[in-house]
Amino acid sequence: MFWPSLHFLERLLAPYLCPICDAEVTDPGLCLACWPKLSLITSNACHRCGLPFDTPVMTPICGDCHIDPPDFDHAVSSLVYADPARQMILGFKHGDRQDMAPILARIMAPKTLPLIETVDFVLPLPLHRWRFFSRRFNQSAELARHLTKQAGRFDKFNTHLLIRQKATPPQGRKTKAQRIAAMRGAFHVPQDQRRHLADAHILLIDDVLTTGASLSSAARCLKRHGAKQVSVSTLARVC
Ligand SMILES: [Zn+2]
Ligand SMILES: [Zn+2]
Repeated sequence: MFWPSLHFLERLLAPYLCPICDAEVTDPGLCLACWPKLSLITSNACHRCGLPFDTPVMTPICGDCHIDPPDFDHAVSSLVYADPARQMILGFKHGDRQDMAPILARIMAPKTLPLIETVDFVLPLPLHRWRFFSRRFNQSAELARHLTKQAGRFDKFNTHLLIRQKATPPQGRKTKAQRIAAMRGAFHVPQDQRRHLADAHILLIDDVLTTGASLSSAARCLKRHGAKQVSVSTLARVC
């Protein structure tokens, strides 16, 4: 017998809920009260790592990227990772709210759709299979799937080129050096996929950029196997 899930019944009763405050909304997305509470990152940000600048600057690269640049070439983030964006993203990741993916992808769209046009492949940052089983979905893959659909370039969405071969514990309280060390050897490009990477420009999608250690490690792995350029787009960024 078919038993509709609780989530399905909730959807029937209240078709759309604001992902931050749970207020009923007429279209999928944030309610009018919650939109202005998000800190959007404008184009005044480091070209390399996406860090927003407080004041207009003469150089497109931040001090950290001058000293110790990440292995990706370009990064954009749409939101500052602070409440209520933080609360919204945690609900998406750990609260089984896959229905939020298209809404969050629309927030990323203005900065990400132009990038999708210029790259060869759009890759979500892969989860290790253990993490995937416990969470039941890869939030980055959901974002990448909706973004490529919104761009009309679902053909560029790819989950085979990059594999996570090492389960890394949550990186929360580690220093940057510890995170980089923990990520060593975390990613892998399967032998039969390597020919696709020759001279390719790759766009990596993730939900939050914290230190960028995971994304940098993924970019390093892709470049080691032939990718020419790696760009990154994340929904939010720790600033
Ligand atoms: Zn709201
Ligand atoms: Zn930077």
